[in-house]
Amino acid sequence: MRQYEQAGALTVTQSRDAIRQRIEAINDVECAGLGGALGRVLAEDIVAPMDVPAADNSAMDGYALPGKLLEIEAPLRLKIAANAFAGHAHSGLIGPGECIAITTGALLPQGCDTVVPQELALEVTSTHVTLPAHAVARGANRRLAGEDLQRGALVLSRGKILRPADIGLLASLGIAEVTVSRRLRVAFFSTGDELRSIGDALDPGCVYDSNRYTLHAMLTRLGCEVIDLGVVRDDPDALEATLRKACAEADAIVTSGGVSVGAADYTRQIMAKLGAVDFWKIAMRPGRPMAFGRIASEGKSAYLFGLPGNPVAVMVSFYMIARDALLHLAGAQNAPLPLISIPSRAPIRKLPGRTEFQRGFLVPDEEGRLTVSLTGPQGSGILRSMSEANCMVVLAHERGDVQAGEAVDVMLFDGLI
Ligand code: AMP
Ligand code: MG
Repeated sequence: MRQYEQAGALTVTQSRDAIRQRIEAINDVECAGLGGALGRVLAEDIVAPMDVPAADNSAMDGYALPGKLLEIEAPLRLKIAANAFAGHAHSGLIGPGECIAITTGALLPQGCDTVVPQELALEVTSTHVTLPAHAVARGANRRLAGEDLQRGALVLSRGKILRPADIGLLASLGIAEVTVSRRLRVAFFSTGDELRSIGDALDPGCVYDSNRYTLHAMLTRLGCEVIDLGVVRDDPDALEATLRKACAEADAIVTSGGVSVGAADYTRQIMAKLGAVDFWKIAMRPGRPMAFGRIASEGKSAYLFGLPGNPVAVMVSFYMIARDALLHLAGAQNAPLPLISIPSRAPIRKLPGRTEFQRGFLVPDEEGRLTVSLTGPQGSGILRSMSEANCMVVLAHERGDVQAGEAVDVMLFDGLI
C-alpha cells in the first residue's frame, strides 16, 4: 500500500507529548468570585465543608408520613396535622393517624421517612387526605442529607476548567470565591509581505490577514488574555523586534506563517538567536510544519508556537497541538477531547503514515442514524471547510482509505456546556 513518509517527521502524538514535557505550568494564582470564575482553571482542590443537602427533605409536593402506614391493603385516611414549607423549620410531631402536607425541599418532619405525591391522593379535604394502599414504597421521595455532596469529599480537583455546573456546585456549598490560575497572556501576530489588514487596499497578489482574527478568536475562547501584535513583514529585523516585544509581555507567543521550508530560513536564524526553537515536520494534514520552543529577551521568556500560514492549517495545528499545550501551561488537567465513532457517508481517500484532520458535518441517514460527510474540498487554504463543518474527522496515522459506511473517529466542534 502507498504510504506517506517524510524523513524525521514526528507523529501528532509524539509532538503533543514532546511539547507537554517541555512546558512548565505557570504558578501564579488569583482569587475569583463565582461570577468571574467561569472557564477559569481551578488552582486548588475543593473539599465539601458541609453535606448537600444539609438535611433529609422532600423531593415532591405531597404528604409526609411513616412509610410503614402504607403497608396495608385498604386506602388510608389520615388527618393533616400541619403544613411543612420549604425554607421553614418544622418542629411538630405527628400522632397516630396523621400526616403532614409538605412542599418540595421542606425538611422531613421527625418520624416521617416517606412522601406520597399529592397527585396520588384519592380525596383531599381541608383537614384530611385519603391515600391508596401501597401508594409508594417506604422511603420514596425522600432526599437524604449528603446525597449530592458529602462533607469532607473531594468535589472539584485542581486543574479543572470550571463549567456552569461547577460554579453552581460551589454555590451549593456556600463557597463564594476560589483560587484560580491567572489567565495566560498570549501574544500573536501574522507574518507575510502579502498580508493586508482589513480596511487597507488589497494590492495585486495580496490577501487579507484572516489568521490573526482566527487566532484572536481561538485564544479568547480558550480563556487567554490576548496581545495582538499585528502583521509582521517578511523581514528579519521586524521579526526579531516583534518577538522581543512579545517575550517581554507574554507567557506564550503564537505566530502564523513563515515556518514552511522555503520561508523558514531567516525565521530559523532569528528564533535560534533568541532561544531554543525546533522546526518540526509533523506527520499530519493539514499543518505539517511547525516551530516550537522557548525564547528569551531581556530576562523574560515565552513559549513560542510557530504555526503554518494556511488558514485551515493554522486552525488545525492550533486545536490539535497548541491548545493542549496552552491548557497545560495554564495549569489545567489533561482532558483529551473524546472521539466518537461514526460511519462515513462516502469513501475517503487517505494515505497511511500521517494523521489527517478532515472537516465534516454530521447528518442522519434514512433510518435516522448519524453519519458524517466531508465539507467539500479539503485544501488547507479553504477556510470555508472549517466554517461549514461541525466536526473534525480524525483519520489515524496508520489508517488507509475509508469505505462508505465504515466508521471514522469524529471530534465535535461544539459541546453542550
Ligand atoms: P506561509 O506559511 O507563510 O508560507 O503561508 C502559506 C500560505 O498561507 C500562503 O498562501 C499565505 O498567503 C497564506 N497565509 C499566511 N498567513 C496568512 C494570514 N495571516 N491570513 C491569511 N492567509 C495567510
Ligand atoms: Mg509567509
